[in-house]
Amino acid sequence: MSKRVWPLFVVAAALPLPAQQQSATTFHQLGHAILRELIEVNTTAASGSTTTAAEQLATRFRDAGFAAADVEVVGPGVKNRNFVVRYRGTGAHKPVLLLAHLDVVEAKRADWTYDPFVLTERDGYFYGRGTQDVKGGAAMLVTTLLRLKAEKVVPDRDLILALTAGEEGGPYNGVDWLIKNKRSAIDAEYVINVDAGGGEIDKGKHTLFDVQAAEKVFHSVTLTATNPGGHSSLPRKDNAIYSLAAALGRLAKFDFPAKPNEVVKAYFSKAAAAAAPDVAADMRKVGAGTADAAAIARLSKTPLYNSLMRTTCVATMLEGGHAQNALPQTAKATVNCRMLPGEDPAAVEKTLIGVIADTAVHLTPADTAVQSPASPLRADLFATIDASVKSVWGPLPVVPIMETGATDGLYLRNAGAPVYGLTGLFIAIDDIRAHGKDERILITAFDQGLDFTYDFLKRLTK
Ligand SMILES: [Zn+2]
Repeated sequence: MSKRVWPLFVVAAALPLPAQQQSATTFHQLGHAILRELIEVNTTAASGSTTTAAEQLATRFRDAGFAAADVEVVGPGVKNRNFVVRYRGTGAHKPVLLLAHLDVVEAKRADWTYDPFVLTERDGYFYGRGTQDVKGGAAMLVTTLLRLKAEKVVPDRDLILALTAGEEGGPYNGVDWLIKNKRSAIDAEYVINVDAGGGEIDKGKHTLFDVQAAEKVFHSVTLTATNPGGHSSLPRKDNAIYSLAAALGRLAKFDFPAKPNEVVKAYFSKAAAAAAPDVAADMRKVGAGTADAAAIARLSKTPLYNSLMRTTCVATMLEGGHAQNALPQTAKATVNCRMLPGEDPAAVEKTLIGVIADTAVHLTPADTAVQSPASPLRADLFATIDASVKSVWGPLPVVPIMETGATDGLYLRNAGAPVYGLTGLFIAIDDIRAHGKDERILITAFDQGLDFTYDFLKRLTK
């Protein structure tokens, strides 16, 4: 495996002095160099180090003229520190926090066509672990801040960039740690998280630009049925496995009521533009709050639409019995719920107990649900996103979305900062390779992402 350190002088040479207006090409070249540097540092929790990547970035920012006090490599442990830099503005408005993570999911050389920790350029793509998730996005933010600095742009507010550890796993979560230990360093009016949302390419065409404004809340419960048991040659009608199976059968038939929130309604209204005509009509009704039960039922057949409209709870694990020849004394199921933001876990549990309708099957929470309030759809921010999207790709629907899974935005939303997930990196909807083999991005998509990030951050801080 080759390990290449991108020489700093190459990047220094890419920053012309005096630097009033770098050409787009120079900017793209710098972006490629920074992406290469990030990809070629292994930042997996098991065998890598986010600290190494953070230290390299710190050197770049100090060399570019950032005050040493504004460039921080912080966190517990030796190998998994976070990178935080503050780009000072006039202070006319509260800062904006720009967020990505530095760590990546494990990748084995033997599984990949190319070395996952070498940036490989092939057929118009950049291959490497983290190109999609999310070193591509991190490189865009880094490159843009360095460009703004080189052009001596003074934003109307501080821009804080935090590139964190532990998003994909590991001993701790970097965002959680920063909130608990360095709150003032990342305190912001709102957050832009490049690890969510973003542009979609469908059959070679740019179709939508998603902005993640909410995420569902994770909450698991355990269902347990118990019984005195006995010899299997003398079965009885009461049986722990049968009780649990019957309870799960009732759960399988149950749906929580559809309660599309503001973000979901906006999503259906906008996404209708790209949907088939019959589906689009139902989507528009949900968007307008006029959907009847039949329209909701039709949309609910699509798992994504179903999950967007309601809280879901589904059986995910099962265990029971202790011997082939014994009546089961215990049967257990794990039920994983994804609650709409703001839903009370106790109320969801109460509903489940009603659905199970068997006092012999006990429900216990398996975790403490962490709330993640939906972020308000700020008109000013969405207008800015619209304008920047238009300047790079022409008119495209900018669509607010609610993530059905959970992201790092959870910690910040929970701490009171609205979070908007968006990235200028367009990805083909049938080429999502995050966490997978031969992860890649289109080089043109990366370059356009750089152009978008530059345009967006300038508009945002004018
Ligand atoms: Zn990610």
